[in-house]
Amino acid sequence: MDYDVLILGGGIVGCSIAYELSKYSLNVSIIEKELDIGNDVSELNASLTFDGMEINNDLNYYMEYYGNKNMKDITKSFNVPFKKLKSIIFEEDFIGNNNLIEKMYTRSIRRGIKGIQKISNHNLKFGLQAKVNVEFNKAIISKNWGVVSPYDLAIAYGEIAFDNGVNFRLGEKVIEIKKVSKGFKVTTTKNKFTCKFVINTIPDDDYKLGNKVKENISKNNNMKCFLINKKFKIKDIFVVLGENDEDIFIYPNFNGDTIAYVITKDEISYEDAFEKLKDKLPGINCDYINNSYSTQFFNDRIMIDDSKVSKGYIKIDGKNYGIVTMSQFIANTIRKMVIENIPSKPKKDFYEKRREVYRFRDMTNEERNRLISLNPKYGKMVCLCNKVTEGEIIDSIRRPLGARTIDGIRKRTGAMNGDCYGSYCMSKIISILANETNKDITEILEKSAGSNIIMSRIKQFKEI
Ligand SMILES: Cc1cc2nc3c(=O)[nH]c(=O)nc-3n(C[C@H](O)[C@H](O)[C@H](O)COP(=O)(O)OP(=O)(O)OC[C@H]3O[C@@H](n4cnc5c(N)ncnc54)[C@H](O)[C@@H]3O)c2cc1C
Repeated sequence: MDYDVLILGGGIVGCSIAYELSKYSLNVSIIEKELDIGNDVSELNASLTFDGMEINNDLNYYMEYYGNKNMKDITKSFNVPFKKLKSIIFEEDFIGNNNLIEKMYTRSIRRGIKGIQKISNHNLKFGLQAKVNVEFNKAIISKNWGVVSPYDLAIAYGEIAFDNGVNFRLGEKVIEIKKVSKGFKVTTTKNKFTCKFVINTIPDDDYKLGNKVKENISKNNNMKCFLINKKFKIKDIFVVLGENDEDIFIYPNFNGDTIAYVITKDEISYEDAFEKLKDKLPGINCDYINNSYSTQFFNDRIMIDDSKVSKGYIKIDGKNYGIVTMSQFIANTIRKMVIENIPSKPKKDFYEKRREVYRFRDMTNEERNRLISLNPKYGKMVCLCNKVTEGEIIDSIRRPLGARTIDGIRKRTGAMNGDCYGSYCMSKIISILANETNKDITEILEKSAGSNIIMSRIKQFKEI
């Protein structure tokens, strides 16, 4: 057998499983079709973490509860940005109101979730600072939600797994999985592998191996995301539950900007989504928007399908808005299932610590000077908006599982995510990446294969 375990898909779920399995004497590989891990996590540097209050399904509640309980410790040990924030969830006052707040509150009491408070319109006026304009009767406050940098978390899992021997096969697409006598044969666009155990985290695709008739009731709404610049400031997480499941989420990220999601059943234009947002945040206008993009809001039930575990196959089924919080539970559960089925021992030399990450923007002047004296490249500012230095860009490329694309550098360092969105620094970053990887600048990719940024050199300039 080539491997004990093959993990298919290098999203946050695949990486967290790789991290858990790397603690054991197992030969593990992860296969990811893209050139980097953690591709699907939000581009906007902060994902919400939940406490299970808002979710209907009891198993998924427990997944969130577990992740929420452990998020502070794991992010601290990985040096990943995370902060707990107060969240205020309003239900708009509309005809046919579903009494969601009441249901959420009753559910939270039944589940024993602490730190929850129900308030009325009256309490809010007297108690809380609010910048939102919502007609509501009841709201709920939770002290347990937070924001985490999702790709830092995915990359931290990946880096530690890599340092502890997990093999990452990036840029290989799985095209077939076949059951063979003592395990599985997995075919990719580049190779064929045999393994004892397959963990499939690729959403939807089970390559005809699972026996699942999709139980998930997909309620995938459309989502318009806006990155609002520092002219508008918000301290807490605000959620407005509107008519027809049309919800709005507003929360701060780690750069002092604000993230807003407008979720609607039908696809709507950016203009219409912005109008809906403006209705709730009367203080903003178009000049405040730095970036916007469109995606889907997934609300599937997440299931660990272990019906074929005795044969060596587990499938993670579904896509959900809360999976970043749930990933720790999923990874722990799968680790237990794997070690029950493949005899293995905890590694004595498992190395838990992640290599130091220096974030110039978060350092004191004293710390900055010390770092520059050790490596002068930390004294050269490349991204002026987000204060990212050349030293950080180079480190993001040289680290274990380092960035090989511009998007990988953006995710790891925050460069090109500021007010100018890379118009000032991207060309410098392309040159650094080309230099570090010994490539020509025309070979440098934005993200996936074929996404070259510079098409050709204007050689004629020399002759003019
Ligand atoms: C804008 C936005 C905001 C979000 N906000 C939040 C939030 O606030 N809180 C939260 O918890 N979640 C949030 N999410 C959702 C969360 O980030 C995603 O659900 C999560 O990243 C999914 O992780 P995953 O590992 O399950 O799946 P994926 O990340 O989709 O991982 C699957 C991987 O498999 C790879 N793959 C697919 N096919 C193949 C193949 N044939 N061969 C090899 N590899 C393959 C894919 O490239 C992918 O990397 C948000 C998502 C977006 C886009």
